[in-house]
Amino acid sequence: MRRITVLGATGSIGGNTLDLIGRRPDEFQVVALTGGRNVARLAELARRHRAELAVTAHEDCLDDLRAALDGSGIEVAAGAQAITEAAARPADWIMSAIVGAAGLPPGLRALEQGTTLALANKESLVCAGPLLMDTARRHGATVLPVDSEHSAVFQALIGEDIAAVERVIITASGGAFRDWTVDEMTRATPAQAASHPNWDMGQRITIDSASLFNKALELIETHEYFGIPPERIEALVHPESMIHAMVGFRDGALMAHIGPPDMRHAIGFALNHPDRHDLPVERLDFAALGQFTFRAPDEVKYPALRLAREVMAAGGLSGAVFNAAKERALDGFLDGRVSFPQMAEVVEATLDTMSSSGLGIAVPSLDMVLDIDARARATADRVMAEL
Ligand code: NAD
Ligand code: MG
Repeated sequence: MRRITVLGATGSIGGNTLDLIGRRPDEFQVVALTGGRNVARLAELARRHRAELAVTAHEDCLDDLRAALDGSGIEVAAGAQAITEAAARPADWIMSAIVGAAGLPPGLRALEQGTTLALANKESLVCAGPLLMDTARRHGATVLPVDSEHSAVFQALIGEDIAAVERVIITASGGAFRDWTVDEMTRATPAQAASHPNWDMGQRITIDSASLFNKALELIETHEYFGIPPERIEALVHPESMIHAMVGFRDGALMAHIGPPDMRHAIGFALNHPDRHDLPVERLDFAALGQFTFRAPDEVKYPALRLAREVMAAGGLSGAVFNAAKERALDGFLDGRVSFPQMAEVVEATLDTMSSSGLGIAVPSLDMVLDIDARARATADRVMAEL
């Protein structure tokens, strides 16, 4: 039996992960499941998968969780610290599917036990890529990418020499507003931004897809995870979302990873790695699909991509500033403080304001990352108040 923990079990990635695990109950034992305020869902998942421990991120939800799991024999706990402790429980495979920088401390703690971390939480690579990868190396842990594009690149690189890679192309659907004008985007509502043409995902990543901030995070994620120089990484709009990434080699060959937009492929690949196992994803009929189309991303309409390139050039703690400002700007859009296009303005102004804050440090500690994250959030809030 492989011991499995799912951080962010109540979310979209968490649910897909448990869907796969639930299909092979004889092979997996669930150690810990974590969630947020949705304790009914967390308790239901913990019972169904016979977890040892269920943890909510919120201390004020502990009583409800305890009541929901009364008589089940499942341990309960609450708070950010309890989630990090859950990540320290011995497990063979841990899914990191918390959304946002909150996923970083438990992800690091999981790596410290030398286990395999399936990393959906791209924010932790953006905030602290060198720290995360260095922690994995020091503890003999494995990080497997779960983001669809990065799983695709990983698969295209199997058996290849990274030195022979000339370019990496990650694709973007273009998100909810790919055919909208900037003027129309100014009036976009959170509900409109949270409806994705191809993928069924959590609310925050779906809105980040519409602003291309998700692709911006993914450019940085590609650089941090694979060590590919920024100038060799490209983003390409591919509205059908069937090709997830392409890796180009020095001899001109391109390896494309193709599959339906279903995260259970990338999750299942990480779950079964280094083997392959049957997965319940649709098999494509290319004759029925007819064609795949591509276009260059509009960097004027979507400043996020340019900002990501500036962040990669600056390095150090600027990724943490970028991510924190993006998270606060998204909060601001959700609660009506800023318009959809203003999110990028908030991120850019926060990066400008903090560029002189000693960000150029090669492998920052967790404390440094958390400190700069808090300062960047406060700066982004000030920027929004002044808009
Ligand atoms: P989601 O919003 O559906 O779920 C997020 C999970 O994190 C929930 O379990 C929630 O309770 C928990 N959570 C939220 N805030 C928390 C906090 N402060 N502390 C502890 N737990 C907290 O999100 P999702 O779409 O499943 O995405 C999860 C991660 O995977 C994100 O980093 C996202 O970028 C990445 N990702 C998602 C998809 C997708 O298809 N959904 C694809 C690629 C990458
Ligand atoms: Mg992705």
